[in-house]
Amino acid sequence: MPSVLESTHGARPLTQLSEEERMFQTSVRCFARERIAPHVREMDEKGIFRPELLREMFALGLMGIDVPEEYGGQGGTFFQSVLAIEELATIDPSAAVIVDVQNTLVNNALQRWGTEEQKRRFLPKLATETLASYALSEAGAGSDAFALTTQAVDQGDCWSLTGRKLWITNAYEAGLFLVFATIDPGQGYRGITCFLVERGFPGFQVGKKEDKLGIRASSTCELILDDCRVPKENVLGQVGKGYKVAIETLNEGRIAIGGQMTGLAEGALRHALSYARQRKAFGKPIGEHQGVQFELAQMAVEVEAARLLVYNAARLRDSRQPFVTEAAMAKYFASDIAEKCASRAVEIFGGVGFTKDYPVEKLYRDAKIGRIYEGTSNMQRVVIAKDLLGKS
Ligand SMILES: Cc1cc2nc3c(=O)[nH]c(=O)nc-3n(C[C@H](O)[C@H](O)[C@H](O)COP(=O)(O)OP(=O)(O)OC[C@H]3O[C@@H](n4cnc5c(N)ncnc54)[C@H](O)[C@@H]3O)c2cc1C
Repeated sequence: MPSVLESTHGARPLTQLSEEERMFQTSVRCFARERIAPHVREMDEKGIFRPELLREMFALGLMGIDVPEEYGGQGGTFFQSVLAIEELATIDPSAAVIVDVQNTLVNNALQRWGTEEQKRRFLPKLATETLASYALSEAGAGSDAFALTTQAVDQGDCWSLTGRKLWITNAYEAGLFLVFATIDPGQGYRGITCFLVERGFPGFQVGKKEDKLGIRASSTCELILDDCRVPKENVLGQVGKGYKVAIETLNEGRIAIGGQMTGLAEGALRHALSYARQRKAFGKPIGEHQGVQFELAQMAVEVEAARLLVYNAARLRDSRQPFVTEAAMAKYFASDIAEKCASRAVEIFGGVGFTKDYPVEKLYRDAKIGRIYEGTSNMQRVVIAKDLLGKS
């Protein structure tokens, strides 16, 4: 007889974790609760992620989760990266996005398109000590990313990059930047090339740090490239094929943003549940009023649905099956319900929910970014609709 958790066809429930996945999830959960939680409010107020927590995330292996052990990483899976991002986001979505960019964009791109020499040079540092950024967006190129104008000129022995990048996560602390530039704006997306820019390169500068609504502890900065000299061996992938690097990494990265938003919604639900048990009105805990129970039940359904979409997309990706539409659905849905759950949590807390003395107002602010970065909600709908109409 198959056990309750096994079907006769060998399929297993999406949320059933392997022993390794469960142990990993538990270790991230403990770290988030014990080490990050005490500092969340202060980091949000100051707009700074504590350097010692970043060092601890490296030490715990959270910055090279699916990097093979031979390159200094943990040898895990993309799914485990998503699990880590989800767990961190229940406590602090800023910590989650730091881990997201490092693992699902930068490490991912290097593993897929890096030469052996590039992997040996960069991955061990990325897994253990060097934070990285992924720099695609510009003032005039967000959703329309390939309208970017940062120009790369071939100087014979090196490339010269000139332009400005905007909204770059991790940039304040990062030592390595994946910078997308065009070798010829006239060629459209076919001119786009990805460069590995190291912080000390001449002509490279990290500019203004944004003062944001949410995920305030995660740095978001402008990058200024003024005749920045990049060695020829620092091109990632082929010249003119940077668009593939961008599209394919973002297709995967957005699954993890779905994970971040699911974790945020789970965090909001946990806070709401605990408050509903202790706050009394009309002679009993508010959780005993059916109106509040219905709100909590709705949140739980939404979190579960988002998690299923996210886990499905991540497991499809790890098993090398098509996942692009599922990834867009996961990010679209999870960021939508994250906003709703955080909003409901604020209301369940009543007046105090609107103050900074309780954690839900921060989650409400943090939720907004889910519908904007790594492709806005409209851009996810474009992907889904193209697939539906057979145009992808
Ligand atoms: C906190 C933060 C962190 C970020 N981190 C990074 C990072 O690390 N690296 C990086 O490269 N970028 C990053 N970004 C940039 C982010 O990816 C872009 O802001 C996002 O893609 C949207 O681009 P935009 O801001 O130019 O908005 P626009 O593209 O100008 O969009 C404005 C509005 O128009 C809508 N719209 C645009 N085109 C269409 C269309 N064809 N159909 C329907 N609606 C449309 C959009 O959905 C949106 O609602 C970050 C942004 C923020 C705020």
